[in-house]
Amino acid sequence: MEKFLNSIQPLPSSALRTLRERLLVWYDGHARDLPWRASRDPYRVWVSEVMLQQTRVAAVVPHYHEFLRRFPTVKKLAAAREPSVLAAWSGLGYYCRARMLHAAARVVARERGGKFPETSEQWRKLPGIGRYTAAAIASIAFGEAVAVVDGNLERVLQRITGKALAGEPLWQTAQLFLDRERPGDFNQAMMELGATVCTPRAPACLTCPAVELCATRGELASIAKTARQKKREIHYALDSRNGAVLLVRRALEAQLMAGMWELPEIADVSTAAGKQRIPRVAPNDSGGANTLLFTLRHSITVTDYSVCVWNSTAGRQENGEWILRRRLPKLALTGLARKILRKAGLLEMRRRTPGHRYGSPTPHPESFPMAGHLKYRP
Ligand code: SF4
Repeated sequence: MEKFLNSIQPLPSSALRTLRERLLVWYDGHARDLPWRASRDPYRVWVSEVMLQQTRVAAVVPHYHEFLRRFPTVKKLAAAREPSVLAAWSGLGYYCRARMLHAAARVVARERGGKFPETSEQWRKLPGIGRYTAAAIASIAFGEAVAVVDGNLERVLQRITGKALAGEPLWQTAQLFLDRERPGDFNQAMMELGATVCTPRAPACLTCPAVELCATRGELASIAKTARQKKREIHYALDSRNGAVLLVRRALEAQLMAGMWELPEIADVSTAAGKQRIPRVAPNDSGGANTLLFTLRHSITVTDYSVCVWNSTAGRQENGEWILRRRLPKLALTGLARKILRKAGLLEMRRRTPGHRYGSPTPHPESFPMAGHLKYRP
């Protein structure tokens, strides 16, 4: 192991010490004011780390507050029914994260008497906790000297060392860089640097605290790869009467968003009308007319959807149900269904908490089945 570590030693010890000091001073003065940074409580750190996987910081913040309002402790989360947890997660996507978080909360509450693991090794034994998340929680909440690696950190380390590090050498290099006195802050500082200064396309080297020790000063900017976005058009029927709206429940065995509620999807009405462009009015299957209410855009992983919402009688739907409007806020809706219902005025906008600055994307850690190929949080 010693030989291996010597072979990847990226900088002399004195340079590493300087880098740690500069980075921590920079972090103390420049870190974004994010709500989960106000506490080292393991439950709060854990919830934030899971939410931040594959999701933008700005999108996470309101959900983070709302989720903790509904489930303020791990015991409350463990005692909740799954539909309530999914409803609180609605809008964040990748619902397997919510299911895993819920399952792990039950293990902590029931098998560990509510006591959290304290080391990254113990955290990894919980459902859905991978190497990144375990290291992030253990270093931030318990001060364990263990390094994290995510997309941002990978890019920063590659640029500073000038090496295309990957796999185990990358993790070992991150561990060599780590400040053992303040491991949680150092991990966050490296990720913050990647999210706000050493960004994929335009690293701001002139303002970087590591510039004098950096081997590339941005020359490896092309290391970052961007996923190619696909485009798709999709049509939904919005049928709302007598204070209720017709929704369809996704199959429980569906790979994505199982058991969540959404609007009935309908065939491409522009094709049905025989026109190239989307008409304002088009015939529907039952011989009536569909009226185009509005369009919106929605992105899921590598697909950008152009969504057309039609005022339409969707007809009889398998797994369809009329849902009273007052039940909608607590229903496990897909993010897109929530967006449509809000735009249609059938669901109130979620209130945002003012007072924070959210800028560039932050790193995302472990990948999930649908988005394993996305390297950086979009
Ligand atoms: S000097 Fe530039 S390339 Fe190097 S770490 Fe800083 S921002 Fe990234």
